[in-house]
Amino acid sequence: MPARHLYPVPCLVPVTLVTIEWDAAPGLHLARCGACAAHFRSSRLGEVEAWADRHHCDPEMIALLAETDLRRAA
Ligand SMILES: [Zn+2]
Repeated sequence: MPARHLYPVPCLVPVTLVTIEWDAAPGLHLARCGACAAHFRSSRLGEVEAWADRHHCDPEMIALLAETDLRRAA
């Protein structure tokens, strides 16, 4: 078994990444997907890691975001 890489966790879609950050102010771990804008916050790193492991990008959301970006650029 190869060692598990925690930072960053690749999504199913190759260009997407879930990054895990420590937000010191509220004292929470924050996982955020750079592709579909999904995010999860918890004081327990294990929960955030589990969310990142389970996270699958929503293709509809990615398409919607891409469409919004195109409209913004136009
Ligand atoms: Zn995602």
